[in-house]
Amino acid sequence: MATHRTKMLIIGSGPAGYSAAIYGARAMMEPIVVQGLQPGGQLTITTDVENYPGFRDVVQGPWLMEEMKAQAEHVGTRMMWDTIVEVDLENGSPFRAVGDSGDEYIGDVLVIATGAQAKWLGVPGEQELGGKGVSACATCDGFFYRGKKVAVIGGGNTAVEEALYLTNHSDDVTLIHRRDELRAEKILQDRLLNHPKISVLWNKTVESFEAGENGALSHLRLRDTQTGEDSDFSCDGAFVAIGHAPSTELFMGKLPMDDSGYLLVEAGTPKTSVPGVFAAGDVMDHTYRQAVTAAGTGCMAALDAERFLATLEVAEREAAE
Ligand code: FAD
Ligand code: NAP
Repeated sequence: MATHRTKMLIIGSGPAGYSAAIYGARAMMEPIVVQGLQPGGQLTITTDVENYPGFRDVVQGPWLMEEMKAQAEHVGTRMMWDTIVEVDLENGSPFRAVGDSGDEYIGDVLVIATGAQAKWLGVPGEQELGGKGVSACATCDGFFYRGKKVAVIGGGNTAVEEALYLTNHSDDVTLIHRRDELRAEKILQDRLLNHPKISVLWNKTVESFEAGENGALSHLRLRDTQTGEDSDFSCDGAFVAIGHAPSTELFMGKLPMDDSGYLLVEAGTPKTSVPGVFAAGDVMDHTYRQAVTAAGTGCMAALDAERFLATLEVAEREAAE
């Protein structure tokens, strides 16, 4: 078990964490990034990214995150393969965190950039058939359904992108949505609705995922939200794409959150209620949730962290005098 000491401790390695690290390293705060179970964050499970500024051509999510990581390391960030399982914010700066490796991390400032995770429907069969037909990541698992019939559940950007991506593997993709209009951006909607390999089932909820004789997914039990009528929909793979929930379990009872678990910050800043603790990216943003906004708030967290440290140093100097 080792202790790692830094001026700036960052939990999370998505666009918010890496951007905070780039700014923090350049401000000589010698940041440590604890990467967690998904180094690079959510963009590592997608393919095409065409709205992150700076690239005329479409870039790949995993590649973009590798580049951000390399940039953060290049300017002096230390990356840790660990996941934080405990934080102590009670006594103010310096803040202490413990990884599941048993290592201890101490930072004069703490940036929380733990992002979000896929949500599940919570209906019968969903967890039991995980890896046997049910998935929350088409980019990760779509290949296994080559030439087969697949469904995507949801109506946001993620669901539409998942459906479009799956057409690389399957000629028979159905999007199942609980309403009669999509939440996804217009450009994505147009691509989906005009795609010859994709059909849409409107006004349907999934009541359960059912297994066949071989123990793998055979069909979905659907309910029509208008008529209440039940029906079966046969498919080999089903991708749940109904959004994400913030990863904030670690901070329950320690930092204020909204009803959905997003960390609350001072309006227009990444400042939490604890001086020296900043929140950046999807973990504090239930509205925009984009790579570029995550990167932007990561930058803001680092700039505010720098100011906080400067104030702390002045206070310490004055106390010593
Ligand atoms: P995340 O990317 O969620 O990263 C969170 C990080 O925190 C991870 O590294 C994780 O390992 C770490 N972590 C969590 N808990 C702990 C812990 N206890 N200890 C240590 N580390 C921890 N946005 C766009 O702008 N353009 C797109 O094209 C786009 N496509 C998307 C496609 C998909 C399929 C998805 C799911 C999202 C997409 N988004 C897109 C949204 C974008 O990915 C997110 O807005 C962005 O990744 C949020 O960045 P973040 O740094 O806040 O958090
Ligand atoms: P989202 O925008 O919250 O959409 C979730 C979808 O799932 C909605 O259509 C919702 O239906 C549906 N849903 C939620 N709970 C459900 C349930 N229990 N049963 C059935 N359907 C349910 O989530 P997201 O698509 O993952 O996007 C998250 C954020 O990432 C967004 O800000 C998005 O813009 C961003 N993102 C961006 C891109 C891109 O820019 N290319 C790509 C992916 C994600 P209702 O519509 O009825 O509420």
